[in-house]
Amino acid sequence: MSKHLKVAIIGSGPSGYYAAEALLKSETTGAPPVEIDILDRLPTPYGLIRGGVAPDHQSIKGVAKRFEKTSSHEKCRFIGHINVGKDISLDTLKTMYDAVVIATGAPLDRNLGIAGEDKYGVIGSASLVGWYNSHPDFANLKPNLDIKDVVVIGNGNVAIDVARVLAKTADEMAASDLASHAAEVIHTAKLENIWLVGRRGPMEGKFTQKELGEMGELENCVTVAKLEQIPDEIGEVGEKEIPAKTKNLAHLQSFTTNVSGEKPMTLHVEFYARPVEILGGDKVEGVRFERTKVENGQCVGTGENFDIPCQMVVPCIGYLSEPIEGAAFNQGKGKFKSVEGVVDDNLYVVGWAKRGPSGTIGTNRLDAKAVMDIVLAKTSCSMKQGGVALDQYIKDNDLKTVCFDDWKKIEMEEESLASDPSPRAKIPHIKEMFKVIEK
Ligand SMILES: Cc1cc2nc3c(=O)[nH]c(=O)nc-3n(C[C@H](O)[C@H](O)[C@H](O)COP(=O)(O)OP(=O)(O)OC[C@H]3O[C@@H](n4cnc5c(N)ncnc54)[C@H](O)[C@@H]3O)c2cc1C
Repeated sequence: MSKHLKVAIIGSGPSGYYAAEALLKSETTGAPPVEIDILDRLPTPYGLIRGGVAPDHQSIKGVAKRFEKTSSHEKCRFIGHINVGKDISLDTLKTMYDAVVIATGAPLDRNLGIAGEDKYGVIGSASLVGWYNSHPDFANLKPNLDIKDVVVIGNGNVAIDVARVLAKTADEMAASDLASHAAEVIHTAKLENIWLVGRRGPMEGKFTQKELGEMGELENCVTVAKLEQIPDEIGEVGEKEIPAKTKNLAHLQSFTTNVSGEKPMTLHVEFYARPVEILGGDKVEGVRFERTKVENGQCVGTGENFDIPCQMVVPCIGYLSEPIEGAAFNQGKGKFKSVEGVVDDNLYVVGWAKRGPSGTIGTNRLDAKAVMDIVLAKTSCSMKQGGVALDQYIKDNDLKTVCFDDWKKIEMEEESLASDPSPRAKIPHIKEMFKVIEK
């Protein structure tokens, strides 16, 4: 019997890497030694750290260094450019490994579910964020920014990220890794108005203080809020929330004294409005909203409608996971079915694929650790061949996969192509990545 526990982790985002880290660390506490393969459908690791986190928030992307350390462990391999569900089935992986962990995140946009959502100019945040972050799936998106008005729907950090990236100047983005194809479009656009619209009130907004504060410091864009929508006090909130809510309120109050048009672009922060219809013909011409109020914590419509004219709408209202054949899936909630991360006998789930799109990068660490504790408690080493069987499968099926050293070649090329102070010029196309690997 092999003395190693063989684990395949599907997805190399934070939850996949934190799961690997937890398994490797467990060896020091007497658990059986592990052999881990982290599989990703892309040739590049790190999931939303690379493809989601805002390009001007480089310090947050620094967590990739921690994941690199995990990847350099001799018992942990990164195998990129293999799509589980397409290139290899979940059932096949389950026959190869003692445990299989789904860490595939939640890559699909949640729909608004209103009329007109299919019009040209409605671009979900997964697509737009992927486009400006050089995600290969969205590199050819070509959004039309030769427009004046954009409505961003949502009151979380993703909505703020989108508004900020659209509002910042080339100078403000110089130290970022914004995709060059996106920089060309965004920095020549002549946007005049960005609307950031939330269904609930200012104190229910899910943005964090740092992100909200940044909206008051933009070079080319003034952020305005309506005095009548911003309260004098934070009201009743949980004790722990008081410091953050107090700071958020101070930021919002400072926006009420700003004047629309003071700078070439205005960011309008609008609360108590839920979208009911996207207006226009084939193309977006506006969004109809219903005014809302919050009663006993519930958002209720008032029956009063108003329109905001715009030529682009970016819904940032959450994400759904993509089902994989062979794993129980909750369609309504858009995530895998599990009991505390256990999907079935040797199949587990962590991260956004388990919880849905909530929490910070760090939330995935505790979550993955808890599920890996269950893996270790439930699983014993078997005769399964793990990576040896996968390597044979890759060979037999002529799959063109990528190892961590290949990724390091891509990374070095991206770093060498960047102009100071940008950390990297990301390669958006998979074909180009392979050219670098094969150089
Ligand atoms: C726009 C945006 C900005 C964010 N900014 C911040 C921030 O500033 N700070 C913060 O703390 N958190 C931020 N987050 C949240 C953070 O990114 C998530 O908590 C975290 O990435 C979730 O990790 P995950 O591993 O579950 O999923 P992901 O990061 O999405 O990783 C999933 C991985 O699985 C791979 N995959 C998917 N399907 C398959 C398949 N079938 N086969 C093989 N591989 C597959 C994907 O390619 C991807 O690499 C942000 C999220 C978004 C969307």
